[in-house]
Amino acid sequence: MPPHAPQYDVGAPTLENDREPTRRVCMKVAILKETRAGERRVALVPLGVKTLLKAGLEVTVEAGAGSASSISDDEYKEAGAGIASSAEEALGGAGMVLGVNAPSVEVVASMSEGTILVSFLSPLTSPDLVRALAAAKVTGIGMEMVPRITRAQSMDALSSQATVAGYKAVLVAADHLPKFLPMFTTAAGTIRPAKALILGAGVAGLQAIATARRLGAVVLAFDVRPAVKEQVESLGASFLEAEEEVAAEGEGGYAKELSEDQHQKELDLIAGAIVDCDVVITTAQIPGRDAPLLITDDMVKSMRPGSVIIDLASESGGNCALTQSGETVVEHGVQILGPVNLPTGIPVHASQMYSKNIVTLISEFIGEEGKIELDFENDVIGPSTVTHQGEVTNERVKSTLSA
Ligand code: NAD
Repeated sequence: MPPHAPQYDVGAPTLENDREPTRRVCMKVAILKETRAGERRVALVPLGVKTLLKAGLEVTVEAGAGSASSISDDEYKEAGAGIASSAEEALGGAGMVLGVNAPSVEVVASMSEGTILVSFLSPLTSPDLVRALAAAKVTGIGMEMVPRITRAQSMDALSSQATVAGYKAVLVAADHLPKFLPMFTTAAGTIRPAKALILGAGVAGLQAIATARRLGAVVLAFDVRPAVKEQVESLGASFLEAEEEVAAEGEGGYAKELSEDQHQKELDLIAGAIVDCDVVITTAQIPGRDAPLLITDDMVKSMRPGSVIIDLASESGGNCALTQSGETVVEHGVQILGPVNLPTGIPVHASQMYSKNIVTLISEFIGEEGKIELDFENDVIGPSTVTHQGEVTNERVKSTLSA
């Protein structure tokens, strides 16, 4: 038997009839302490534990898994979870593992055949992990693969975590800016409000706009999807408009890459606005591609010293030519930050939202009395599954492995 073969704990006996007592088998769900450097989130909060117990599952949490999100082991115990003293103990007999980030390939290799792992997996850029999942015959379900359909909104961790990132980006910018954001009228004089430019008005961008407005900044925003103009304006920001429309809306309401000519028009538009901005937050992404370049070296040079750029696209190449992912650089007197994993900076609410997403997702395949019923025809579970029974089931992921 493999070291961690699921030995589902046996729950209270139920009587099927008077003579033949049968025992209900609960699947054990393990929550491991996240191991990514700097990670403070946890995949499941105590409220999620209670929901899973009600659904007929059993939950074991590795000791200390919630501590960076201000959740003690005692709180998990009160919610009904068991506490394991190590990751190995938590994994022992677990049929499902929930995480925020993917575990290491070594941990995946130690999982027993048939385990269901649900976490962010970055399957398109993590071939070693995908191979390890297939080799261990682990069913890998990627949170980033959840389709962005209306029905799945409450399972959409990309959106919940982008909301956190957009909010936190403004706080980081405010902290680095040597100025106030709001206008002040005081006996010591009147302070003009700071001006913020938000590039990309998707989930993170809209939250950044709302947060910058709440902090009193004057906000401008731009996106290549003209449909967001109304949303931007409803948040009290102004939408930048070019003389000729710059637009590129692709499939499913996402952006697509601009033509060279349109991209140049966008750069001209941004160059005209950026000179006067104290804070710039960039969030522009195109699914499956490098982030578009929106801020050139010359544009940074044109900004006032002390201004701050927060590039939320830094992990996919960056929207600013001078961004270094995970670093803060100062060029032409302008601070350029390329933060990675901003949601971990608000761990309590980021975990709470993530936990709601993951519980809603797995509820799709928990049947009566905690029975697991994986249905790959399900419009959420099918596309979210990356590996199953030793096969890579997602065609896009498969093609990245053979490329
Ligand atoms: P994203 O992270 O892929 O991109 C962020 C933003 O960058 C997008 O708004 C995009 O239009 C913009 N962008 C791309 N290229 C640009 C450029 N050259 N210049 C300026 N902006 C550029 O997107 P997202 O925030 O994850 O979501 C984008 C869309 O998906 C939105 O329409 C959103 O409403 C939709 N969505 C739907 C659901 C759902 O129905 N469940 C969930 C989440 C998001």
